[in-house]
Amino acid sequence: MNDVEEFRWIAIINRDRSVADTFVYGVTSTGIYCRSGCPSRRPLRRNVVFFATPAEAAEAGLRPCQRCRPELAVAPDPGVDAVVELCRRLEDSREPVDVATFAADHGYSERHLRRRFTELIGVPVATYARIARDQHVRRSLRSRVPVTQAIVDAGYGSSRAFYEQGAARLGMPPSRFSDGARGEQVTFTSLDTPLGTVVAAATSRGVCAVRIGDDETTLVDELRHEFPLASLVRGDEELEEVAHVLAGAVRGEADASRLPIDLEGTAFQMRVWDVLRHVPLGQTLTYSQLAERTGTPRAVRAVASACAANPAALVVPCHRIIRRDGTLGGYRWGLDTKAALLENERATVAGVRP
Ligand SMILES: [Zn+2]
Repeated sequence: MNDVEEFRWIAIINRDRSVADTFVYGVTSTGIYCRSGCPSRRPLRRNVVFFATPAEAAEAGLRPCQRCRPELAVAPDPGVDAVVELCRRLEDSREPVDVATFAADHGYSERHLRRRFTELIGVPVATYARIARDQHVRRSLRSRVPVTQAIVDAGYGSSRAFYEQGAARLGMPPSRFSDGARGEQVTFTSLDTPLGTVVAAATSRGVCAVRIGDDETTLVDELRHEFPLASLVRGDEELEEVAHVLAGAVRGEADASRLPIDLEGTAFQMRVWDVLRHVPLGQTLTYSQLAERTGTPRAVRAVASACAANPAALVVPCHRIIRRDGTLGGYRWGLDTKAALLENERATVAGVRP
């Protein structure tokens, strides 16, 4: 999910009508499409697909919702129309769009249009343009167009500009991305703990995955699936310190969030994971408190999904997030594991153990 989709998903959760004219969303489980603000039941994130226009949703075979009537324009607001048109222009144009001229042509000041754009789309014009270009690059790279060609086609102008601005968002340099992370070395190690086998993997930049499970083979297979063409090599020696910290974290005695990380996620997920890494050992937060600290107090469900998508157990201590009523909520690696981790941390903080 990119930042724009994230913003839209949060709008859907909050039934935010102010952005209703800027997109529609389809719900694959029902075959229906809606506008943001629809009073019907909130869909599950995994069933939601975004469309720029009602026509595109209809083309994809979805039917308009009877409650929010997405096929009808919400309210004639020329300001919204201009913003939506600018989105299309940014998506279609392979050259930089002259926003000042565009604004003037539509009877707005550039400043006003840019501000309106950020309000309605969730990111500034420049960011949207980059996301549109990134998506174009991703599509081209997947279809195995030569990297330099893909970059020029996407409007970056030169590969230098792309490496400076675009590569960070793809999570790895494009030459590796185009062949599924071949050449990226991912080192892993595993350790047996009272809570099961812990497998940790790292790139040269930091820890990229930590999994807890029953056996090493399954966990390593999982990593292989996740980093399909990276060379995945055992590196018990290189990762000795990491293993040592993780063993301590399982006992509730060490805080693994001090380890360097190299995680891939959307800007929103990264923000949630970063907030999580600042929750001290032995403390817990509720999902709503976490949402508040993330700066999106109403996006509790989105925050919970970001926790569930955490790729690095312990290092991103999502086990420290519990429900308001004190029950544990969910945990990707099992509720018993979560309960035991919290118990161990509490014991450490209380000084119960030597
Ligand atoms: Zn609806």
